[in-house]
Amino acid sequence: GNTGADGILAGLDPEQSEAAQAVRGPVCILAGAGTGKTRAITHRIAYAVATGAVPPEAVLAVTFTARAAGELRTRLRALGANGVQARTFHAAALRQLSYFAPQILGGPMPEVAGNPIRWVSQAANRLRLRTDKTELRDLASEIDWAKSSLVSPGEYVTAAARANRGISLTPAKVAEVYAGYEEAKRRNDEIDFSDLLLIMAGALEELPDVARAVRAQYRYFVIDEYQDVSPVQQRLLDAWVGDRRDLCVVGDANQTIYSFAGAKPSYLLEFADRYPDATVVRLERDYRSTPQIVELANRLMSGAQQRDAGLRLIGQRPDGPKPTFAEHDDEVAEAAAVASTAKRLIAEGTPAAEIAILFRINAQSEVYEQALTEAGISYVLRGGERFFERAEVRQALVLLRGAARADDGSVPLPQSVAEVLSSVGWNLEHPPPGGAARERWESLAALVNLAEQFVTELPEARLDEFNADLEQRAASQHAPTVQGVTLASLHSAKGLEWDAVFLVGVTDQTIPIQHATTEEQLAEERRLFYVGITRARQRLMLSWALARNPGQARRRKPSRFLDGLRPGAGTRQAGTPKRAKVVPQSEDAAAFGRLRTWRKKQAEAQGVPAYVVFSDATLVAIANRAPSDDTELAQVPGVGPTKLERYAE
Ligand code: ATP
Ligand code: MG
Repeated sequence: GNTGADGILAGLDPEQSEAAQAVRGPVCILAGAGTGKTRAITHRIAYAVATGAVPPEAVLAVTFTARAAGELRTRLRALGANGVQARTFHAAALRQLSYFAPQILGGPMPEVAGNPIRWVSQAANRLRLRTDKTELRDLASEIDWAKSSLVSPGEYVTAAARANRGISLTPAKVAEVYAGYEEAKRRNDEIDFSDLLLIMAGALEELPDVARAVRAQYRYFVIDEYQDVSPVQQRLLDAWVGDRRDLCVVGDANQTIYSFAGAKPSYLLEFADRYPDATVVRLERDYRSTPQIVELANRLMSGAQQRDAGLRLIGQRPDGPKPTFAEHDDEVAEAAAVASTAKRLIAEGTPAAEIAILFRINAQSEVYEQALTEAGISYVLRGGERFFERAEVRQALVLLRGAARADDGSVPLPQSVAEVLSSVGWNLEHPPPGGAARERWESLAALVNLAEQFVTELPEARLDEFNADLEQRAASQHAPTVQGVTLASLHSAKGLEWDAVFLVGVTDQTIPIQHATTEEQLAEERRLFYVGITRARQRLMLSWALARNPGQARRRKPSRFLDGLRPGAGTRQAGTPKRAKVVPQSEDAAAFGRLRTWRKKQAEAQGVPAYVVFSDATLVAIANRAPSDDTELAQVPGVGPTKLERYAE
């Protein structure tokens, strides 16, 4: 036997191993979050490559976010399967279309519209429609849904009614704008993301030369997160595969989070009908999360109309801490508490890159950026996505190439990288406080880090060698890990995992989001919440705030999805006294000092009672009323003998 290949299989359980060994023919893995679907397919590819059954360059692995594609590449590299293409549908189509543009389009590659809203707005103006920002956004998302669903402007009205689209715009109006949008885009020689897929699929269907060349290159297809495939993506996939059958799909219907944008989990659920001889594997052991987190995920989904009721997770890991639930008066306090807990976790040894703060809408990230900056914790927004396309990184690469020409080889390398970068105003010692400038700083810091890693492996390395390595990384989109706590939306967190996850802003109106009104939309929000919960390996911390800003009326309510998940919630009757709001906190004195002063002032101004809880002289919590029993205090980690400080009333 081949020890490399055997070693690869040894890392799998029997069901995963069965899927990994089914190298040829249709394969489908249906399983819940954290059961090792992605692991099974990476090992499957690595196994096929290691046994020589499949050349790496003949494999096309597809997933849905740039970050997940990066993750796939990292896992494949670690298993020795270099040279496998792992891309998003769009990246794969873009690459193929750019290559075959002369044959397919008879000319150069058109510009891919960076901002389709522009054409939507132009179309609306031409029709003399008065549209506000929200309507424009809704129009753009409807057009996106239609294109992803292979619905033309002429078909839109009927299709939208059939799909029960739950939007405020009249379908006839959408259809008109949609037609105008297509025209505006064409006039300006641009294409959009869906066009990329449509044009490429059309070319494969109609141009035998292109089809022959592309199909000769790619012979084995693996699709991760297949529950979120849309009709246009499926059409491209069918065109890639042709009449062959070496196709492996993996997914979890309970994690469909893009159906409002056209995803159709039916492709996953009906895969076995389409290929009756497919190897179908179900996994139910959850290797990612502690049994406490798994239990929460199971409970959340048992309250749902499940797409695939057969999937219940069985935790495999040792017990861990209970998930925590914390209510705060406002977002500033919530963010301060999260930053302070994150700081404590880091001090206790959790790497910052193993911590994530996940939110439903991107606007929520700002208050966390501020709180993390104040706490001196570096962070990454969305993390690693399109690293090499960032302006500052491209600029840095140009400068580094220039410097390499002048390089006389006398390199500690990291230092000369830092010097080159400092010539454009970059400064390692002084990270800017936050926002876009901070993000730029973090990506340049990542380049210096890479240089440090590079010289660790190759002590004599020169700048031109480092540049060559960077270029190779850029070509394979192998972005470096930017160190820091990840700030990400729930949508972009799909497929990823962290030791500690803060799921923040868990209020009704945020998750489920305000504009989710139909039952189908609410079900999707619940699945999104499930995706969030199941990202955590060890610690899961859920929190919400009752108001946006300090001092505002506390009008918000915790998310309805929390009913039945946390002790004491969901059974609360009107008139029952509220539980004390015990907010787990760490010993970060400075942040606490500020919070305490502010709380005291607020309590005095409003005549509202406020309590500060000390344990052995360490401030551990701030409560709105005296915690009434031990169960409440037990929610606070590390609470010993307690002492209360009480303000106002
Ligand atoms: P998701 O639905 O969130 O994408 P998934 O099913 O793809 O999850 P993976 O990301 O592949 O799950 O695996 C989750 C975690 O469990 C990973 O850290 C993985 O390495 C680990 N894992 C999976 N299978 C095994 C196994 N057989 N033995 C040990 N660890 C495993
Ligand atoms: Mg996965």
